Amino acid sequence: MAQINPDFGKVLKEYGALDFNACYNCGNCTAVCSLSDEENSFPRKMIRLSVLGLEDELESSVDPWLCYYCGECSSTCPQETDPGELMMTLRRYLTSKYDWTGLASKLYTSKVWEFGTIILLAAVILVLFIFFHGPMTTQLTADGGVKLNTFAPWKQIEIGDWIMAALLAFFLLSNIFNMYLKIVRSKKDIKIPFSLYFTELWALILHFFTQKQFSKCDTELTGKKYTLSTYWIIHLFLMTSYVIMLIMIMVFLPWFQTDNIYEWWHPQRLLGYYATIGLTVGIVYFIIERIKKTSEKSKHSHVTDWTFLVLLFLTTISGILVHFFRIYGLPYATYYMYVFHLMALFPMLMIEVPFSKWSHLAYRPFAIYFNNLLLAAVGSKK
Ligand code: SF4
Ligand code: SF4
Repeated sequence: MAQINPDFGKVLKEYGALDFNACYNCGNCTAVCSLSDEENSFPRKMIRLSVLGLEDELESSVDPWLCYYCGECSSTCPQETDPGELMMTLRRYLTSKYDWTGLASKLYTSKVWEFGTIILLAAVILVLFIFFHGPMTTQLTADGGVKLNTFAPWKQIEIGDWIMAALLAFFLLSNIFNMYLKIVRSKKDIKIPFSLYFTELWALILHFFTQKQFSKCDTELTGKKYTLSTYWIIHLFLMTSYVIMLIMIMVFLPWFQTDNIYEWWHPQRLLGYYATIGLTVGIVYFIIERIKKTSEKSKHSHVTDWTFLVLLFLTTISGILVHFFRIYGLPYATYYMYVFHLMALFPMLMIEVPFSKWSHLAYRPFAIYFNNLLLAAVGSKK
């Protein structure tokens, strides 16, 4: 029998939900949603489940992840219930339900936990540098650059990177496995043929790298099947930049953190510039959107939306400064800025990738993959 939680509204409020009880079930929101269809009819159904407090049904639903928050439903709701924001809140709630450590829930519902964890992780980096940094030399390289690897040898940084990568992969993948159990394995009456796990894999790869549903999200406004919306392009630019930077620091650190100063057209610098410009443009765009509240999706900002943007901003700006201080031969400025850069980078990755905002980038394509598995298994996939 379905479990009803009469206080579910209060629970969702902690994750950022506004008052959704005014919903009178007219269905306007579902009618205007360009991503909703017969098989996955939302957001009205999600609102009903939330009003009724049917937690188990919500936890096993894939629908909150199929919404890309265009805000169309919110701007047309006659009761001003803001269904788009409820879908966003449900994604935060589900993130904490998939997370077996309980940390995601604490980070989403407590500012003390959010800021305390950031400060603690930044302090870990500071203490490691205080005790283990290499010599701070004012002697420059033959190119006139700073000897960064004397102060922070790439081999030691790389070991730290690998430990961090292993932790990130462990937490994120174990949480995704939990998501799989809740969404796929909870539907005991549906048997998934083993071969489907491979044949449907393309959806996971395609949606992870393109996030193309974002472009479909605005179709009500344009009447086209897909649109090249500014939001989608900037989001894609930001996402590819983030991934390039992650790969360079995790996999190609000896090549990336070198004391050599290459010509501006060298691939190492070009990739770095692409990622830096993409991150800067994306962060500035989203910060301005949130400050000006120009669209439905930026009207309500949860504290974790801001911490992600601010940490990413600090990481990017400090990375740019390290680059310029290094090539213009300013040793102390390079060393101190490098420590600050890692103090912003470490909490940003450790908090955001497995437990908070960034994890949504992984959950979304997995949700589409799991949804395709279920639809294909019952023979109703289009
Ligand atoms: S959220 Fe608004 S548009 Fe959607 S069913 Fe409720 S009242 Fe209607
Ligand atoms: S925000 Fe957009 S994609 Fe999400 S439920 Fe509303 S209309 Fe659909």
